[in-house]
Amino acid sequence: VKTNVSLRSRRLEWPANLSSDDLIDLGWAPKPITQFILKVHSRCNLACDYCYIYEMGDSTWQSQPIAMSEDVTRQAALRIREHAKRYELDQVSIVLHGGEPLMLNAARLRSLLDILVGELEPDVSVDLAMQTNGTLLTSDRLDILLRHAVSIGISLDGDETTHDLHRKTRTGEGSYSQVVQGIERLLDSEAGFLFTGFLVAINNASNPSVVYESLAAFDPPAMDFLLPHGNWTALPPNHDPNKTLYGDWLVQLFDYWYDISALKPRIRFFESIMNKINGGESLTETIGLSESKLVVIETNGNYELVDVMKSAYSGAAATELNVFDDPLDSVAELPTVAVRQIGAAGLSAQCASCSLMDVCGGGYFPHRYKAGYGFQLPSVYCNDLQRIIEHIQSRIDLERNGGSSD
Ligand code: SF4
Repeated sequence: VKTNVSLRSRRLEWPANLSSDDLIDLGWAPKPITQFILKVHSRCNLACDYCYIYEMGDSTWQSQPIAMSEDVTRQAALRIREHAKRYELDQVSIVLHGGEPLMLNAARLRSLLDILVGELEPDVSVDLAMQTNGTLLTSDRLDILLRHAVSIGISLDGDETTHDLHRKTRTGEGSYSQVVQGIERLLDSEAGFLFTGFLVAINNASNPSVVYESLAAFDPPAMDFLLPHGNWTALPPNHDPNKTLYGDWLVQLFDYWYDISALKPRIRFFESIMNKINGGESLTETIGLSESKLVVIETNGNYELVDVMKSAYSGAAATELNVFDDPLDSVAELPTVAVRQIGAAGLSAQCASCSLMDVCGGGYFPHRYKAGYGFQLPSVYCNDLQRIIEHIQSRIDLERNGGSSD
């Protein structure tokens, strides 16, 4: 009974309570989905304590098949091709994700990639990528990834101490040495050029310059720093919404990175803020009102929303739609997707009237959640976002005026 009451009340939360007429009144029109996150394996060989799939509000992974079957893979590819044809898309992006995608052995990985590419190309060009914890980058898997030119992003949180604090093996030890062995195997192989960089969960108790230098030692093309997931009901770790602990950390990292004059890794979060300040576009959904253009396909073929939604509550990413019964258009019409495609009309009143709204965009959608209200609130990181945006703005202004930072 408790569950039913809870689900019913969540259907009344914004934006689940919006009808299609409401959405059209808000200015929404159908838009194509161009990025597909395929959950090819639903389990992980690590046990990171901050994991939004296994350690936060959601428990839906327990009922998922362990790996995506050939039937689901083929049907997912057919749905993507159908969608690309309808919107005349020449290219789509497919990201292999998990759990840990490399828990697939080399034979399963080869067959999955052969099916995806075989069903889509040459009609639709496929940009293939993978997000992995790096520990299973073995030479046989690297050969398969090379054959299909799959770009490889690796999750690494910085120096050994910072990384091992949360990213642990199933036996409770730090995973840093295993990840580094995987990175070294990748960089020493012919597939080394496929390395796209690091995904880094921020620990605001760490030293930003130490974290940066530890990552830079591997010469990554990019570093994507992520604010830990959480919301107004389940606050992120070591976070006080009235303070700017994460904003202060980001300011230190920005200054350290910005002041390096040599060629340096890209940091899309900072580049997005700089772009928006200069009238350009954001490069990430986490800031700047970027349109949501991605859908997750689970191992059983269910469509889901961006999986970080699972950090809000159990089932927050679920859609009740799947690749066998439903076209991708059905997902694009869901209120939780549509409200992320209508710009400021999808924000809270506080964000809509905020002087930083155009740059910030209300922050990352899952971080706006509060039980009983839904997602129409400022980010739980509002003060941190103001801190880093205003700081970057001041550095840009100073540079424009020919000054130097102190
Ligand atoms: S989250 Fe805060 S800083 Fe960002 S737009 Fe909303 S009110 Fe402004």
